[in-house]
Amino acid sequence: MSEEQPHANLIVPAFRTEKEPTTQTQNGNNNVWRFGGSEKAAKASTVTLRGVIYMLFDNCSKDVKKTVLPLGHGDPSVYSCFRTSIEAENAVVDVLRSGKGNSYGPGSGIPPARRAVAEYLNRDLPNKLSQDDVFLTAGCNQGIEIVFESLARPKANILLPRPGFPHYDARALYSGLEIRKFDLLPDREWEIDLEGIESIADENTVAMVVINPNNPCGNVYTHDHLKKVAEMARKLGIMVITDEVYDQTIFGDNPFVPMGKFASIVPVLTLGGISKGWVVPGWKIGWIALNDPEGVFEYTKLTQSIKQSLDITPDPATIIQVALPEILEKADKNFFAKKNKILKDNVDLVCDRLKDIPCVVCPKKPESCTYLLTKLELSLLDNIKDDIDFCVKLAREENLVFLPGEALGLKNWMRITIGVEAHMLEDALERLKGFCTRHAKKTEKETESLEALKLSE
Ligand SMILES: *Cc1c(COP(=O)(O)O)cnc(C)c1O
Repeated sequence: MSEEQPHANLIVPAFRTEKEPTTQTQNGNNNVWRFGGSEKAAKASTVTLRGVIYMLFDNCSKDVKKTVLPLGHGDPSVYSCFRTSIEAENAVVDVLRSGKGNSYGPGSGIPPARRAVAEYLNRDLPNKLSQDDVFLTAGCNQGIEIVFESLARPKANILLPRPGFPHYDARALYSGLEIRKFDLLPDREWEIDLEGIESIADENTVAMVVINPNNPCGNVYTHDHLKKVAEMARKLGIMVITDEVYDQTIFGDNPFVPMGKFASIVPVLTLGGISKGWVVPGWKIGWIALNDPEGVFEYTKLTQSIKQSLDITPDPATIIQVALPEILEKADKNFFAKKNKILKDNVDLVCDRLKDIPCVVCPKKPESCTYLLTKLELSLLDNIKDDIDFCVKLAREENLVFLPGEALGLKNWMRITIGVEAHMLEDALERLKGFCTRHAKKTEKETESLEALKLSE
């Protein structure tokens, strides 16, 4: 890979050298080393996407003579067409130059930034948030960590969507929360299987997670469906954690409805941030908002636990916190519209090309986020065992990396990243078509003529 490529940051070298682990436990003085790495992180890290992606990159090869196309994971910010808005950049530059962002901030975040997030979210909420209901985190991911740490207690279990966002699984394992999965239904626009939820919940269930707009499925839930989710959660006595980090990445017709709208039915904890909407995941700022008009979070001491967790963990950079009010207030509609138009065009491009590739099917065109989920029709192919086999062979033969669905809990599906430049998708789909044609099951006629050819040779 050449250095100039915009996605060079995303690529992992194909040949990683790992030091042989030493088996030495004695130090020079004949004493035993009394420390060692913990098993906890080892266990939790096995469910992240990185392992799968590294493995696929390792299967790419210089001999293929094609550039590596990294469409398995995504960070649109590395492509110039997704560069963030000038207003957001200026907000940060101004704070940097003013010297007002150089100090420590309070654990929960600086008050003007908390107020700005409350105002940003209040635009769509009937039960208004105050700045005290908002806590700032180092990206949405830290919000997940703080909430899971605050909820964990012996025997507690949490309900997570399948397919989902693997960081939830990793952090639940790390916090010692038992994971129970409910299904999202592909033939019902990826709606949540509410009956399934009822059957897996018990007296130790503490919360369910709703990702809306939905990464990786790309749908946006309707008002009616979310209301049913809220009613089910109330019936089960559990809170709803909603991940709305993609609230500004919508390019379909379904309008976004925040889960907080149903806070009078069930307490809702909203996770969000600017990483995806403004395409600045490197700025590391997000938030936790407590939608809780009845004060359940206070009464159950969850609020207290969140504050305590925030007091002992690192804070988002003060520079970005000070810039946040201006970033949110000057949110540029044109910037979002331009970004979302590129994503929509990319989706259309991929869906159009997939028409010529019968073994890769997209059952529901995404209307949000930056991924496209496809189902593999393996019966049309020869000698491809499953989605992992498909993706490994695709990497090996075409230097093309897609994410096998298995990594998201969806056997024999595959995820394509669309938050890239259009020419990469054109190239990728061309390679995919070539791959599928080569591996297509031969019809009887073709087999006959092949054999005839062999005989005549
Ligand atoms: C990217 C993503 C996150 C993490 O957001 P950061 O702000 O980068 O930490 C959380 N949840 C979902 C669903 C995401 O796609």
